[in-house]
Amino acid sequence: MASIDTLLPFVYICFFLFSPSLGKVLNNNPIKHLQGCHKGDKVQGLHKLKLYLAKYGYLNYQNSPDHTNADEFDEELDAALKSYQNFYHLNATGVLDENTVSQMLVPRCGHPDKKIHQHGTKLLHTVSHFQFFANEPKWPPSKSHLTYAFDSDYPNNYIPPVDRAFNTWATSSNYFTFSRVSDINGADLKIAFESPQHGDVDFELNDLAHANPPPGGRFHYNSAIPWSVGPRPVRNHFDLETVALHEIGHLLGLDHSQYRDAVMFASINAGIVKGLNFDDIQGIKVLYGLN
Ligand SMILES: [Zn+2]
Ligand SMILES: [Zn+2]
Repeated sequence: MASIDTLLPFVYICFFLFSPSLGKVLNNNPIKHLQGCHKGDKVQGLHKLKLYLAKYGYLNYQNSPDHTNADEFDEELDAALKSYQNFYHLNATGVLDENTVSQMLVPRCGHPDKKIHQHGTKLLHTVSHFQFFANEPKWPPSKSHLTYAFDSDYPNNYIPPVDRAFNTWATSSNYFTFSRVSDINGADLKIAFESPQHGDVDFELNDLAHANPPPGGRFHYNSAIPWSVGPRPVRNHFDLETVALHEIGHLLGLDHSQYRDAVMFASINAGIVKGLNFDDIQGIKVLYGLN
């Protein structure tokens, strides 16, 4: 009879095969087939790379709406790709190399990585990479207590990880407090599971979730993603609480961090659990002028 040790790899393989959403996320990404391309190339499907960089804030299609050259690797795409490579601390060569493709394949937050304001360099003896949104939207002093509510379709077993994430932000900020209420219409923060096409900003294949900066208050998880509820990581599933910590950061006014260990870093692999990092906490303290 087979021992549990010999069966275990088989169990994992089955788990992967029967996790269709994740297989779709990892294998259907059209960018995978564009590896190696660079300025001057004309490659079928290159416009998918342009769409990717436009969605996440690196390429402004308004400046180069020439659809006939959509598959041409032009100056704008070169600049956008280098800017993306800089943000993720990759070699900024403008070549879509293996490391860049790998980074692009990692599931991520649907919010763009805008680099409008960067405050990390102001802090002495600290290498911080947190960022704020343009014009630094934040909650007024009268709103240090915020209410949150879940949509009526929200699964009950997915509530505790989000409650824990709000508690973590309350404790770590030592400023915000949160309470769960039942009336979603009256709540400051509104949390829901949504299908990829849901009417505000659609989720791309590898988008996990997205949330508005203050005072927006909308926080949506992508229902097409396989989720886990913690506290331990689950192979091929995304940790709901880790993603809640990230999206609550957006709800409070933090943008994406360039620091890989920060919860505000835009992308995360399946089976990873993260807590708040010093960089995240510093970000919220600087934004709200806390000590
Ligand atoms: Zn994000
Ligand atoms: Zn949404």
